[in-house]
Amino acid sequence: MSVETFEFKTEARQLLDLMIHSVYSNKDIFLRELISNASDALDKRRFEGIKDPAILEGEPELRIMLSGDSQARTLTITDNGIGMNRDEVIDLIGTIAKSGTKEFLDRVKKSKDATTSAELIGQFGVGFYSTFMVADRVTLLSRRAGETGAVRWESSGDGTYTLEDAERDTPGTTVTLHLKETDHEDGMKDYTEEWVIRGIVKQYSDFVAYPIQMEIARTEIERDDDGKPLEGAEERKVIKTETLNSMKAIWLRKRNEVTEDEYNEFYKHISHDWNEPLTRIQAKIEGILEYSILLYVPAKAPFDLFYGSATHRGVQLYVKRVFIMDNCKELLPNYLRFVKGVVDSEDLSLNISREILQQDRQIQRMGKGIVGKVLNHLKDLKKSENELYVGFWGEFGRVLKEGLFEDRDNREALLDIALFYSTHDPEVFTSLQDYIDRMPEGQEAIYYMTGEDRKRIEGSPHLESFRAKGYEVLLLDEPVDEVWTQSVFEFQGKKLVSAGRGAVELGTEEEKKEAEKTRKSKEKEFASLLEFLKSKLSENVKEVRLSNRLTASAACLVTDTHDLSPQMEQMMRAMGQEAPVTKRILELNPDHAILQKLHERFDVNQDDPALLEQAELLYGQALLAEGGVLPDPGRFSKLVAELMVKSL
Ligand code: ADP
Repeated sequence: MSVETFEFKTEARQLLDLMIHSVYSNKDIFLRELISNASDALDKRRFEGIKDPAILEGEPELRIMLSGDSQARTLTITDNGIGMNRDEVIDLIGTIAKSGTKEFLDRVKKSKDATTSAELIGQFGVGFYSTFMVADRVTLLSRRAGETGAVRWESSGDGTYTLEDAERDTPGTTVTLHLKETDHEDGMKDYTEEWVIRGIVKQYSDFVAYPIQMEIARTEIERDDDGKPLEGAEERKVIKTETLNSMKAIWLRKRNEVTEDEYNEFYKHISHDWNEPLTRIQAKIEGILEYSILLYVPAKAPFDLFYGSATHRGVQLYVKRVFIMDNCKELLPNYLRFVKGVVDSEDLSLNISREILQQDRQIQRMGKGIVGKVLNHLKDLKKSENELYVGFWGEFGRVLKEGLFEDRDNREALLDIALFYSTHDPEVFTSLQDYIDRMPEGQEAIYYMTGEDRKRIEGSPHLESFRAKGYEVLLLDEPVDEVWTQSVFEFQGKKLVSAGRGAVELGTEEEKKEAEKTRKSKEKEFASLLEFLKSKLSENVKEVRLSNRLTASAACLVTDTHDLSPQMEQMMRAMGQEAPVTKRILELNPDHAILQKLHERFDVNQDDPALLEQAELLYGQALLAEGGVLPDPGRFSKLVAELMVKSL
């Protein structure tokens, strides 16, 4: 078939453009990316081969071959992995499947300085496209295992690529780079040189579990026992296949024999992250179940953390050093999905399948152990390297909070390492323990308030009486906070109580009694006005009552103890779920001048038409104070304008 030309999808084109005019100074890593892709492809072939031996047929050894040609100025990377067919090449190479790519590119565009752009690119992991940092033309020849035909893909990274049918004797992929001119100042080495290739493999890919080989030409001459060349012997050229990497499973090597760099490179290999990890969790577990773990926490949250995207790489499962599968979700709960690394079991069966995994007792037990290790490690980190931990929480806290409702067994441990903003210092994270340590006498519960925006929560009238009492309130402004607070009610014997929900009673028993007494008498006094307001506002609120929350403001809206909060309602609708329209409670401050005056006016004439407008204004004001959206902003502003005219 003839050569067909295709256009890269917009986002792919933009990424390529970034790579060609690369802001990334370390060009060597293109080879690491290609070797990682090849190694993944070999993993996949081996994995598919477990179920279907035909996939592996005719393949003596899974391996990666490198070959440089200084005359042609090419570097070739060949693997006998799973390969790709035509559709897969279009899908995987012509498109960037990662969710969040657009947002990522927007951020890169916005960042003017080269270091930030490079960091962002590193976080994103550009993969195959990084070849365009060093090559002005790239060819890929691939044949899918289990299929016969092959496909050749080629591009100069200029917005288009070509595809044509091709031949390949066996399954696998060959990537050929037509290298740019060597330019040492620009970090562009001669990637056809044996020593250059050798160095990069050693540095970045030594632990890759498959042999990375190269054919090396040497001149040899026959020698005697003393090593002297034999008389009359002629030099001959011999070509030997040499394996460049040690293939040692890094998690089984003695810790003092592995350098930090090696550990970090291993992380980059498995995670496809270009940046150093934040922290490493290593352990060998012995006992009824034996396994080793080498896990990492990335420094930055990946772009697809909240997309549930398929590009996610989690924990790899090995059994006795044999790779079994990528992204083994059964080993780590969803809320630890950002953790990457390897778990190598001594006990599981080699032909364990995904289906069996889900019910496997051993896996469940291992999973529990691993979660414990991770949470303990984080706890230690919080203690020993608090600054680092605060950075970590900023990146991953919102994911960990999912654990508060997903994992009851570890709830206390999670609350222990959780950090929150609070009114104590709205710019600094606090732990619950520190909050408790600061609690003044008489305060029994831990108070929090949820909302969409920290600044708005901080300024909302609901917190007035808490402030007056010197009680701190946690400012919970993430969507996940709406969810976990529905099922977590206690920490270390202290109740967790919403400042924006139900009735609040603050202070010592005596103070509470006193407040209750005053409220009762005020309620009597205001009873008919409250009734009146309720009847006029019944479309918007379910109740109108006097408040214990307010000291300065006249009114606020609170959610009834067991009702959905407006944010939760919104979230449910956004997810396409049905959410009932929940009416809230209007709370009024009987000591506020507005209430006093309203009361007087109401006493004079209950049919005064101005009263209805005042009711609407009160409600609108309460809604605005918490950052809510008015049902009829036009009408509200007209009422305010009329008031202004009257007062001028
Ligand atoms: P990433 O590796 O981060 O997913 P890449 O751009 O490097 O991104 O690769 C995109 C996809 O192309 C890979 O996920 C893989 O499915 C496929 N791919 C790349 N290289 C190979 C290869 N050598 N063999 C088989 N598939 C490959």
